[in-house]
Amino acid sequence: MLEAEQEEQAATAVDSTIGSAPAGDGGIRRAFQLAVPYDTWAGNDERAGLLHGYGPVTPDQARQLATLASTWVATRTPHGHIILHAKITTLAKPRDQQMAIRTAIHAIDITPPPEPGYRPSTALAARVRARDGTCRNPICNRSAYSSDLDHTRPHHHGGPTTDANLAALHRRHHKMKSLPGTHVTQPRPGTLLWRTRTGDCYLVTPDEF
Ligand SMILES: [Zn+2]
Repeated sequence: MLEAEQEEQAATAVDSTIGSAPAGDGGIRRAFQLAVPYDTWAGNDERAGLLHGYGPVTPDQARQLATLASTWVATRTPHGHIILHAKITTLAKPRDQQMAIRTAIHAIDITPPPEPGYRPSTALAARVRARDGTCRNPICNRSAYSSDLDHTRPHHHGGPTTDANLAALHRRHHKMKSLPGTHVTQPRPGTLLWRTRTGDCYLVTPDEF
């Protein structure tokens, strides 16, 4: 099946759950990304979920959309809450969503070794985008799912392809990072320190969700 057809079927599935079509980032439809607190998914809490490119969704909508997930990634917020990130497509769904979620949660504390190439694997890209949520420029809230993945320390300068050296930057801010005088470091995975050419410093820390 063509990717465009899969995206359209996914859009139809999302529409039937939430009742209207997500606008998407820049109007581009693609696989949909849902973020939902674990406790909400498990029915122990009623915090809202987030459908990227659409906005907040109610706990019931989030739980319903979660049944459409084809892959799962889990992250932990700075305050220790586990957030589940589901990719919604028409691709095959796990037979056992609970097992898939348990596996994703188990992987939170596992730090995989650096990958050999420049381009991150699908799994690494999914982890970094789920962790970042939005472009990691200090003033930007564009979705990480429509952003590039930038090597904070450039790959051609020895920067590894790892969670700790990748961050989501949307295209304009990706280019801005390369401007003379702009310096960006990643002191901890997901935390970026920007120093501008005027000497101002901005610390971007992981979102609480
Ligand atoms: Zn940006």
